[in-house]
Amino acid sequence: MRNLIVVLGDQLDRHSAALDDFDPDQDLVWMAEVQTESRHVWSHKARIALFLAAMRHFAEDIRARTWPIEYLYLDQHPHPDLASALADTLARRRPRQLVMVPAGDWRVQTQIEAVCTQAAIPLTVHPDRHFIAQPEEFSRWAHGRQLFRLEHWYRRLRQRTGLLMDGRQPLGGQWNFDAANRNAFDARGPGLLWQPQRFAPDALTGEVLSLVARLFPDHPGSLAAFDWPVTPTQAHQALEDFITHRLPLFGRYQDAMWHSEPWLYHSRLSAALNLKLIDPLTVCQRAEAALHARQAPIEAVEGFIRQILGWREYVHGLYRLWMPQWLEWNALSAHEPLPAWFWTSETDMACLHQVINQTLQTGYAHHIQRLMVTGLFCLLLGVEPRQVHEWYLAVYVDAVEWVELPNVLGMSQHADGGRMASKPYIASGRYIQRMSNYCSGCRFRPDQASGANACPFTTLYWDFLDRHQSELASNPRITPQLRNLERLDPSSRQNIRQQAKQLRKQLRA
Ligand code: FAD
Ligand code: SF4
Repeated sequence: MRNLIVVLGDQLDRHSAALDDFDPDQDLVWMAEVQTESRHVWSHKARIALFLAAMRHFAEDIRARTWPIEYLYLDQHPHPDLASALADTLARRRPRQLVMVPAGDWRVQTQIEAVCTQAAIPLTVHPDRHFIAQPEEFSRWAHGRQLFRLEHWYRRLRQRTGLLMDGRQPLGGQWNFDAANRNAFDARGPGLLWQPQRFAPDALTGEVLSLVARLFPDHPGSLAAFDWPVTPTQAHQALEDFITHRLPLFGRYQDAMWHSEPWLYHSRLSAALNLKLIDPLTVCQRAEAALHARQAPIEAVEGFIRQILGWREYVHGLYRLWMPQWLEWNALSAHEPLPAWFWTSETDMACLHQVINQTLQTGYAHHIQRLMVTGLFCLLLGVEPRQVHEWYLAVYVDAVEWVELPNVLGMSQHADGGRMASKPYIASGRYIQRMSNYCSGCRFRPDQASGANACPFTTLYWDFLDRHQSELASNPRITPQLRNLERLDPSSRQNIRQQAKQLRKQLRA
């Protein structure tokens, strides 16, 4: 045999460079479902099901091309992990080389390299064309920089791709329309929302759902609402549905939250993008076409393209640059355990109950729910970053380490000391009150930092500033918040410290 082409669960790009010169007479596609990939973090049932369903649909497409494939089904082989399954295939097939694109998880890439070395079989890793920028472009851009800022990288990619450009100038005269975005809903809420297109499980996905329910009964989350796109055709339908019904208001309500409304104006495309059922440039170009067709205003289109061309490519570049060290950083010396109710949603903090419960039901939360509710609580409480990372990697259907880890450890937990984001994203309960209606159904008061009704976010916010005052003093972006801390009288500060201490003790118990 000539080439063994390894295709991992998040590499389902039908046009992958690994398949470029595939010769059915000499090559073999190899895919494996293995238990450890669902268990190394305690994965949500919907996350496991989505990966397996999309993999099985990919395998069907390969078979439809009449290409040979060796596909190991989860309950039909004896191998506990990817390394032992691959080692066994290499021993039996003895290909001249193994071919792949880079794994989205540093741990998996290292395992595959070790198996190839052990078997003395060369490994060829092709560039992953799914991404708009290759890691080499990112590291050339990063070379010699003291400060890494999304905005600089984003503008460079706008210029290189021509997306939203008018010659050398940004379309509409501005790079960024943030000022027109990020509104909250008024007291009437979002009103009647157009519900996103659902993709009811077909027979293949139905089998996977039964398998997951049978093999992973104790795993978190529910399969009842499973309706994610699992093929490229469905991913394109999901994109069209978003462009038509939700993109026009995407920017304006990007940061808003509302009780029992998980989707609002978000695209729900992250899982399809991360499994590579659809590529990011296509998505951005489609959004730009909607602008030119007057289907959506520039602030919505720019806000959306910024997330994909900007943030998504940025975190990918940083992950390739800083792994594996990133996993070890804990700049704020945070050592609290993750509260157990993160796995059940059983808390009387209404915002956390709402976001975690929604996560367990659907495997989804939008960016601000992740950053400014669950992430914020962990940051303020001082939860050990690795535990926070493992929770996020487990519970979201779109969680692949290259995109999850930078968002959690860099943006949300500030564990890298500000290498990725220029300041810790901290706020009191008043921010959640402003951006959602969660507080109206909560027994706590977001404006109170101490006392029986104090909102734990507000207590922990002041306590965070108090605990980290000296480290944060040199950060000009935090200066206004530290000035407010200075304005608190000594007895209020003492009460907050006491209350925060008590809260930590309760949560540890
Ligand atoms: P939309 O709000 O419609 O945004 C459009 C697209 O932009 C998304 O589909 C996504 O591909 C991209 N995008 C938006 N924000 C980011 C970002 N910060 N980084 C990278 N891409 C972005 N995204 C993941 O894909 N996987 C994760 O595991 C993940 N973990 C996160 C953890 C934390 C703590 C935070 C704060 C963010 C995380 N994100 C993650 C980013 C973001 O929350 C999700 O991409 C988004 O909520 C997915 O929903 P959507 O497709 O409806 O996105
Ligand atoms: Fe969350 Fe505090 Fe508002 Fe309750 S009062 S919903 S805990 S922010």
